[in-house]
Amino acid sequence: HPKTPARTRFAPSPTGFLHMGSLRTALYNYLLAKNTGGQFLLRLEDTDQNRLVKGAEQNIYDSLRWCNLEYDEGPEKNNNTEMGPYRQSDRSKIYQEHAQKLLDTGHAYRCFCSKERLDGLRESAQRLKPPTTVSYDRKCAHLHEKDIQNLLKEGKEFTIRLRSPAKYPPFEDLLHGKLDMQPQVNPSEIRYDDPILLKSDGLPTYHLANVVDDHMMKITHVIRGEEWLPSTPKHMALYEAFGWNAPKFIHIPLLTTIAEKKLSKRKGDASVMALQKKGILPEALINFSALFGWSPPRKLSIEKHDCFSLEELVKLFNLNHL
Ligand code: GLU
Repeated sequence: HPKTPARTRFAPSPTGFLHMGSLRTALYNYLLAKNTGGQFLLRLEDTDQNRLVKGAEQNIYDSLRWCNLEYDEGPEKNNNTEMGPYRQSDRSKIYQEHAQKLLDTGHAYRCFCSKERLDGLRESAQRLKPPTTVSYDRKCAHLHEKDIQNLLKEGKEFTIRLRSPAKYPPFEDLLHGKLDMQPQVNPSEIRYDDPILLKSDGLPTYHLANVVDDHMMKITHVIRGEEWLPSTPKHMALYEAFGWNAPKFIHIPLLTTIAEKKLSKRKGDASVMALQKKGILPEALINFSALFGWSPPRKLSIEKHDCFSLEELVKLFNLNHL
């Protein structure tokens, strides 16, 4: 548990309705920031335009407000939703500049491969035994500058890929300990995990935008769902490529349905606002979420409390009790 003010963020993608799992992530980030006298930011990760759901952004604001999880900075606070600093779709220029920096330093390269070619590579990677998701053969990693310039002149579309390191850096997760996660490479056919950073429409992928923003927003601790663990080595590689220090990571187990399926935002599983409509009180929901993975000091929970106020949770919250 940090002794200095933590700066945290909740970074939902507006691709559906905020559910209990996301609420818990938001809550833990909020509690950590407030417990240490730091800040809690809201950042809308909305760069995947195809997956946006109408009304989802408003639903995020409404759900957080109903639960009293006030954020300290962000689009709504500036009374200027158009230019809100924490909506990623407003920040494409920043990501493009950073992708360019990685091109300049040789940590990234332009990939001109067609969708058909990439689909083919992906399919054949799945047929390998054991199947692998690492599916790029680095065709474009070795293009000559002259050829690149010609392709650009022709107006050929391209993405920008990270030149992934031979070995991803190990990292420390405050909950899981030291982790050394490498992509599953199939030795019979060498494929590379060179994730796309910038898409052909000039918008960033999650990896680039997330890392650039966490750095620029001076985030000290990232609490997020375990589903993002496999992305973290890529993020670490990006931090290294930029020469930045990474924040501390805390990946928490996911809340699931009773059938142990991931909660789906799109299907509206355990949506916070749907629970409100059922008459559940925000205090109840906050307690339920808080205690799903965190516990207060033992004595307290037994002797006195049935229900903690948000202020009490702020005072008690401690990463060591996750
Ligand atoms: N946009 C991601 C999500 O919707 C954020 C993951 C993260 O916190 O890095 O969950």
